Amino acid sequence: MPSKKKREIRERRQKTGESYQAAQRQWKQANTPLQPHTPEWLDKLTAVNEGQAEHSKLIFELSDSTDVCAVCGDTPTTLYRSTEAAVAVSLVLLCDDCFVIQTTRMGAKLVLAGGSK
Ligand SMILES: [Zn+2]
Repeated sequence: MPSKKKREIRERRQKTGESYQAAQRQWKQANTPLQPHTPEWLDKLTAVNEGQAEHSKLIFELSDSTDVCAVCGDTPTTLYRSTEAAVAVSLVLLCDDCFVIQTTRMGAKLVLAGGSK
């Protein structure tokens, strides 16, 4: 059964002429949700929502940690996953208050991604 993964890797190889291993690595990278609040996560967020990225960067600096709510810097946080396909970064750590605000007032579609801190 040709999976979506195999098809995408084949298409990528046809376009780029990469080796199977390289194309597979790229595919995995593109399809693995970024760990929340890492430099890569911030880079990706910056590309689509610079304001939010700058805000979160400041929060992490002020908190001297990235293990805090991406909106307000509070702890404890819970790991959420966005169910919106178009979202830049699918995983985010939020405190309870910010989760409520994001989902009820900002229209964010978030589900528990397992694991809280
Ligand atoms: Zn918060």
